[in-house]
Amino acid sequence: MKIKPKILTAPVVRVFDQIMVQAQLDGVDYESVNRKERASLVLGTGQVWVEVCLFPLEPFSGPKPINRAESVVCDPLCAHTAINAPLTGAGRCYVNHLGIKRSQQKALQQLESKRFNSLLVGGYILRLTKWGDISALNNDGLAWALELCVSAAETRAYSNIWRHEESALEAGDLWRYRLIQGLKGFVQASVSSVEDALKAKRAGWKVYAGARQDEIRAALIAEGVRVYKCPYTTPTGRVFCANCPMPCDGTRHIMSPKEPT
Ligand code: SF4
Repeated sequence: MKIKPKILTAPVVRVFDQIMVQAQLDGVDYESVNRKERASLVLGTGQVWVEVCLFPLEPFSGPKPINRAESVVCDPLCAHTAINAPLTGAGRCYVNHLGIKRSQQKALQQLESKRFNSLLVGGYILRLTKWGDISALNNDGLAWALELCVSAAETRAYSNIWRHEESALEAGDLWRYRLIQGLKGFVQASVSSVEDALKAKRAGWKVYAGARQDEIRAALIAEGVRVYKCPYTTPTGRVFCANCPMPCDGTRHIMSPKEPT
């Protein structure tokens, strides 16, 4: 495990156009409700768990606030959004949106107060992202996400950004194309179909699959690559994201612990 001494100021809130990006220290000023993470396990190793979340700047209100929020912070091609899930059959996003709404209010307060903590840490494990997709960020935001990845000791990251590699090149946006290339070694490609998985794999990405795992696993194995099953079992098990021996860090193909319902 590489450890990079670094002064990390957290929690941090940055704004990129209509999106607020927050980086929090899990186990220090925030406890994740995601039972698969168990961030507290990393504290004894001299590291911390940094969790990144995207929020819309606009408060959640009015009709269909989750749909509107997803249209700002999620990837339009994500199979699990409220708009896409009924069409893709891949299942709805598992994130607790009530919790996200509360977290957004706190992030907005933090942004207004301009109060931040400073911590000296020996490295951090970066979770990208609790909610939202870095593909929704403009190039400045994406550059910050890449900077967080490069400075991390390890990553646990998933994104649909791989879907935009070709279009960035076709649009002549070479900065964005290079940023996406840079993220390839740190971020899993979120996929939900065989077609997705093969496209991402052939472009050099390592996939993370929730839905349709049997078909995706078979298709990847037929391409001659090794595919791993997430070792998390239950909250009483022994392996969590924090101590995972084969983490989602962009270096191996992984099937999620169970198919979303
Ligand atoms: S493979 Fe490891 S890091 Fe990835 S979701 Fe499973 S436990 Fe977490």
